[in-house]
Amino acid sequence: MARDDSKSKMTPMMAQYHALKEEAGEALLFYRMGDFFELFFDDAKVAAQCLDIALTKRGKDGGDDVPMCGVPVHAAESYLAKLIRNGHRVAIAEQVETPAEAKKRDGSKALVRRAIIRLVTPGTLTEENLLEARAANWLAAIGKAGDDWAIAAADISTGRFELIACGPGDLRAELARLDPAETIAADRVPGIATTPGQGGFDSMGGEKALKARFGVKTLDGFGAPSRAELAAAGGLLTYLDATQKDAATFLAAPHRIERSGHMAIDPATRDSLEITRTQTGSLKGSLLDNLDRCVSAGGKRLFAQDLSAPLTDRAAIERRLAAVQHFAEDQLRREDARRQLKAMPDIARALGRLVAGRGSPRDLGQLRDGLVAAAELSHSLKGDELPELIASLLPRMVGHDALIEELARAITPSPPIDTSKGGYIAEGFDAALDELRELARGGKKAIAMLEVRYREEVGIPSLKIRHNNVLGYHIEVPSRHAEALMAPDSGFTHRQTMASAVRFNSPDLHEEAARLTDAAGEALALEASHFAALTQKAVARAAAIADSADAVARMDVAAANAARAIEGQWTLPSLVDQPCLEVEAGRHPVVEAAVEAEGQRFIANDCQLGPNDRLWLITGPNMGGKSTFLRQTAIIALLAQTGSYVPASRAKVGMVDRLFSRVGAADNLARGRSTFMVEMVETAAILSQASRNSLVILDEIGRGTSTYDGLAIAWAVVEAMHDEVKARTLFATHYHELTRLTDRLDALSLHHVRAREYKGELVLLHEVASGAADRSYGIAVAKLAGLPPKVLARAKAVLAKLEEGREKTGGIAAGLDALPLFAATVVEDDKTDPIAEALAALDPDAMSPREALDALYRLKKLADS
Ligand code: ATP
Repeated sequence: MARDDSKSKMTPMMAQYHALKEEAGEALLFYRMGDFFELFFDDAKVAAQCLDIALTKRGKDGGDDVPMCGVPVHAAESYLAKLIRNGHRVAIAEQVETPAEAKKRDGSKALVRRAIIRLVTPGTLTEENLLEARAANWLAAIGKAGDDWAIAAADISTGRFELIACGPGDLRAELARLDPAETIAADRVPGIATTPGQGGFDSMGGEKALKARFGVKTLDGFGAPSRAELAAAGGLLTYLDATQKDAATFLAAPHRIERSGHMAIDPATRDSLEITRTQTGSLKGSLLDNLDRCVSAGGKRLFAQDLSAPLTDRAAIERRLAAVQHFAEDQLRREDARRQLKAMPDIARALGRLVAGRGSPRDLGQLRDGLVAAAELSHSLKGDELPELIASLLPRMVGHDALIEELARAITPSPPIDTSKGGYIAEGFDAALDELRELARGGKKAIAMLEVRYREEVGIPSLKIRHNNVLGYHIEVPSRHAEALMAPDSGFTHRQTMASAVRFNSPDLHEEAARLTDAAGEALALEASHFAALTQKAVARAAAIADSADAVARMDVAAANAARAIEGQWTLPSLVDQPCLEVEAGRHPVVEAAVEAEGQRFIANDCQLGPNDRLWLITGPNMGGKSTFLRQTAIIALLAQTGSYVPASRAKVGMVDRLFSRVGAADNLARGRSTFMVEMVETAAILSQASRNSLVILDEIGRGTSTYDGLAIAWAVVEAMHDEVKARTLFATHYHELTRLTDRLDALSLHHVRAREYKGELVLLHEVASGAADRSYGIAVAKLAGLPPKVLARAKAVLAKLEEGREKTGGIAAGLDALPLFAATVVEDDKTDPIAEALAALDPDAMSPREALDALYRLKKLADS
């Protein structure tokens, strides 16, 4: 950069930079200069810190140093990845003409034209290195029309495109299912983290954009999306255009998601059950991590989605289960299929890169190998009496023979990563290319022979013919031998003198070198044009290829579920429409693994919920296994509805429309997340949203406040669940007093996790049995935890006093039996008006003027406060 110390005059380059930076907005600007992307000013400071690279300066601006840092173009991806992971966006400004073109246009001092060719954001990635292979990468756009809301979501790395209509209350749940990398919306949406996007969130514009993109006259073929869906799609497509600029984006036709087709699971429940990540945010230790046995990247992505969105259509679930069974009952079939799947490249993402114009010969190679493998798998799975789902997948995995055949002939078996030297188009594909390569090879041979000839002619055995970028091919001899070649009649021309060697040229060498360079350059160009043509052919089949990739992924999930089921000795659940949940010997897969890793045995437990026994109240000591039992029951229902076997010896699952899991504030406080307020808000949500067909897990609800308040709330919640919501409910509690509810609530039953005190030691049996726990064992658990003996002894004494008091007075819960029934509870309006009260207390007849004035001031003050 030219230095410019004057305040008024900006160098042309700085002017160009500022214009581009303005366009980039808050995104960091990667400004291409030669082999580097440079960042300036504040961008440089931010990037240098985030990337841990040196911050330097270059030139001056308004008298001040310009901060600068840079990353080499060839390594830019890994730096980009880090910036994006840290929440930045990056605008890439490329040189869009060569220096020669600039010179021609504008004379020798011309500045090369630059333009932003792409805005890199978390939701618009396609590069292998920037993406997680096992997770989808959704960009979600929130749209609104009147009171209706919708989400449009696209994963341009695989071309998936979904439209989801939902009420304002369901937005968070739907976003939790998708878990987008980036969410955009025109305006702020309460409770949801969004960025503004690039406009276009209106239904008319959305309709136009959809029609234009898919070249259709009507959207009826897409299921006639609602106005809110169109608005969301409009915002999404506008953003894709704005970020991808001229590059194409891979989008399949939009798929309208019926929300009622999925089990509704709100974010708090996902958190509590640790479905795709633990409460601390890691994959390790989550249900997904424990269950996923997929061997292909596409399968892993699909399985994560399945687990995030269990189905509610019984027939669809049963189709999935039959496919799993097909693999579960035949070890050879299963292992064979999984071996084939494991070797399969990530077709969907390779295709995504090719469509985006960021593909490489390796991507074509992956496509070829993947499609060959898909066809082979399809062939090997053929048979009589296939389950419906498998039978429908097989034909979707074939049909690309012509493309496969051409790619097999065209692309070398494993194309090089660095394509700058060519070598990815196979020999024999194009005779002209072969000839050029032969010429180039011939040229190399000729030069080698020339070297031998010169050595003999001049008698210098150490003479070498070398190549570099400055001189091209040249002859090099050690300095002490140079004299012979310096002679005017030697036939050599002097080019360069180095410290220890001298370099020459010769007419023969010049001629051979030119021939070779021309041939090599032409070969390179020819390879590139073949690559472009082949890419085009693949892209023309994008939809069919993506469909094959989907089918392969579905097959992987079925085989993987079978593998997990066999490994854990799981069982095929039976699904029914009645609201029941019958589990024999159920287990929690994650806790089971943890317990077994400690060399212990997991205790399996039963659960029997049905219309006449739909609310289980579970008591028992801390650490006794209540939470585990609750969660495992929810997980079994969830797994069954994703179409998986379940960790139990027998399971009958009545379809669950909504799943809720809540852990009381007391249990969660250690994680610094929950407060009593949050707990109550979440409990309120259950009471308003759960239905007879829901499954509700409540763990220690009402613990985050004082004993009396908490007990009262828990009591009322249990009654409401039983009498009004009528959902299948498991309610774990420390409030023994609640067990009295069994007398008045006929579909409630009591259960406890068993514990025994043996020779003064507490033994936790982790066994769920009927009836209430005999006592709470709190002090015994405290002993297990190592509370000092003196404190324990004191606590025992205090407890004895408390219990004594309870017996005398009837105790904490004694009065509860006399309460009227829940249904008879009258909600009183306890709003009182202090001003009205104060007014009523005044007696104007008995007041002096002075007192009346004082009273007036008091009233005024009350009103102001
Ligand atoms: P708290 O009331 O303190 O929350 P809890 O009764 O909910 O306790 P859990 O958190 O479910 O207890 O279980 C505590 C520990 O006991 C688990 O981490 C696990 O190690 C063990 N455990 C739970 N259930 C079983 C089981 N069925 N078999 C074997 N071990 C179990």
